[in-house]
Amino acid sequence: MMSAAARRIGVLQRTLGSSGAVRRELVDVRQQQQLLQRRGVHGADCGGEAKKHDEAAAARAAAKSASEGGPTIFDKIIKREIPATVVFEDELCMAFRDVNPQAPTHLLVIPKERGNLSQLSKAQEDDKSMLGHLLYTANRVAAQEGLDKTGYRVVINDGVEGCQSVYHLHLHVIGGRQLTWPPG
Ligand code: AMP
Repeated sequence: MMSAAARRIGVLQRTLGSSGAVRRELVDVRQQQQLLQRRGVHGADCGGEAKKHDEAAAARAAAKSASEGGPTIFDKIIKREIPATVVFEDELCMAFRDVNPQAPTHLLVIPKERGNLSQLSKAQEDDKSMLGHLLYTANRVAAQEGLDKTGYRVVINDGVEGCQSVYHLHLHVIGGRQLTWPPG
């Protein structure tokens, strides 16, 4: 099975190869992957612990590029420059299927205008209505997928220790199977 870093490299290569910031992210992720391979760690191939290291490495690499503030992969999705399976859209936000689903249903809800909302911890007082709108949209798309009948989880990863890998605020809506806790 392909590791998370290998999958991330594949996504980056297919979609954003021309952006300087993303090229640097690609190099960082590749270096992290090589390091893990040298240590005999192959991400998902070697079980849960290795996968966690792999994802943390990718998150550290993404954080470095994020400080440059360039466009993210989600900006390309909003502009329809790369494909995504969009399940909901209004004037403020968009919801689409995660390319690397962690459950039978895995959606991402994002603001169309990132502004300062590269991550939740950057939110200001005047972002409150957008934050409410995103959460309410998560509720709507979950219902659209039938998850309101069984339950689901909404997750926001923030920063390196939160394992955030795309610096454009997004809510994960995850369901369709029994989830476990704690998330790890
Ligand atoms: P996070 O790690 O919380 O920043 O989540 C970023 C999410 O974006 C991951 O679950 C990725 O699988 C997902 N992702 C990255 N690129 C794409 C893409 N092109 N289309 C859909 N989802 C993506």
